[in-house]
Amino acid sequence: MELYKLSAHELRKKLQAKEVSAVEVAEAVYNRVDAVEDTVQAYISLTREAALAEARRVDEKIKTGQAILPLAGIPGALKDNICVKGTRTTCGSKILANYVPPYDATVTRKLAEQDTVIIGKANLDEFAMGSSTENSAFKVSRNPWDTDTVPGGSSGGSAAAVAAAEAVWALGSDTGGSIRLPAAFCGVVGLKPTYGRVSRYGLVAYASSLDQIGPITRDVTDCALVMNAIAGYDPLDSTSINAPTPDYTKALVPDIRGLKIGLPKEYFVAGMDPEVERAVYAAIEQLKALGAEYKEVSMPHTEYALATYYMVATAEASSNLARYVGVGFGYRGEGSDIIAMSKKSRTEGFGEEVRRRIMLGNYALSSGYYDAYYLKALKVRTLIKRDFDKAFEDVDVLAAPIAPTTAFKIGEKVDDPLAMYLQDVCTVPVNLAGVPAISLPCGFKDHMPIGLQIIGKPLGEETILRAAYAFEQNNDYYKRLAPLGRA
Ligand code: GLN
Repeated sequence: MELYKLSAHELRKKLQAKEVSAVEVAEAVYNRVDAVEDTVQAYISLTREAALAEARRVDEKIKTGQAILPLAGIPGALKDNICVKGTRTTCGSKILANYVPPYDATVTRKLAEQDTVIIGKANLDEFAMGSSTENSAFKVSRNPWDTDTVPGGSSGGSAAAVAAAEAVWALGSDTGGSIRLPAAFCGVVGLKPTYGRVSRYGLVAYASSLDQIGPITRDVTDCALVMNAIAGYDPLDSTSINAPTPDYTKALVPDIRGLKIGLPKEYFVAGMDPEVERAVYAAIEQLKALGAEYKEVSMPHTEYALATYYMVATAEASSNLARYVGVGFGYRGEGSDIIAMSKKSRTEGFGEEVRRRIMLGNYALSSGYYDAYYLKALKVRTLIKRDFDKAFEDVDVLAAPIAPTTAFKIGEKVDDPLAMYLQDVCTVPVNLAGVPAISLPCGFKDHMPIGLQIIGKPLGEETILRAAYAFEQNNDYYKRLAPLGRA
């Protein structure tokens, strides 16, 4: 079997048994990139030399009989809003097109300590704002299951890279669904951890009270392995949770007898594709057949989540993005004085969607509107969080769809921001509440993957991994490789 098709845990066995070298694995993945990247367009930059140098270091360790760490020599991709010292980090924006960070994100450092191999930086919607990866200033990534459709967003490059086997694993960031939606559209596994479980230090901020980094992988086992590498307390992130990090692989037992699953009826929204709904219900029936119990729960404030999210996220974004003024770093436009120069830099450097959100956010934060919009959104956010607290008094996890439909056609929603925002209706409540959630494949509609969402309690990653693992091991969705064309 071709090496690039293997999962991280399968490759690890081969590396340990000295059946293959880390350099061979990295080369196999780069050969795959060479063969399919023109079609998929998953990457903004490739870091071939550094990757092969790292692979050689791992091979040295293996040769000298040193024990290797679980992800040593396993090639992955980082979303291009995660800083890597000395490597261009663009956020998919013209304004950061030439930005080379002078420091590593904490996740980058942790992955380096695990001797992982970084293949490159993956494409994204500009500043992670979007649901299709069409908002990137550089390229539109394509869904490996049908290259006329979007891979989802904003971590579309990360998910497309994993689905097209151009990386074994990837990191994404999820502010309102940006790990889970592309994972669902591309038929791979994506986990948004509890807010504060993974350090945000070195993740370029979009909406700081919502942003969270997490893994995108081909299966649940690899998801646990990547979580082991990146989770944990970090004094450099003031919102980091100071709690011990479990070994997530211990959660991988296919036994969910007695697990209580709640079905929030409000997530099965009007306008949902009946086939998506059917697949999600069938998955829940399957979990029941494996020993879980389920019952319907009500989360009455769900209908306000999308409006609340787009208020909070744009307000925080307008503040976070105020730093890009053409001074110190980033794109600089011409202007006769500093005001004209910074105006020009921002107008030319930011794309349309980012400008729209900065204006929306500034409006919501401006005096006279602050109480009516921003403050109100914060209050509704608390009500949404309470819906989760209440539901979790009775159940261990919640099961829901990820999105109302499967992946849509490139160009279909790009001129209709509201239609694009509606893709996030099932994912944003989770970010507002700060809880963890996983997306995993649970079926297909016309050969396009459908995602099942399993939502957990705060720090409940192990429970959702266990439920996801039990489901995965009783299905073979994760074994199918995307056809890289129309199926
Ligand atoms: N689609 C949502 C947005 O555009 C979520 C993005 C994200 O999670 N980064 O804001």
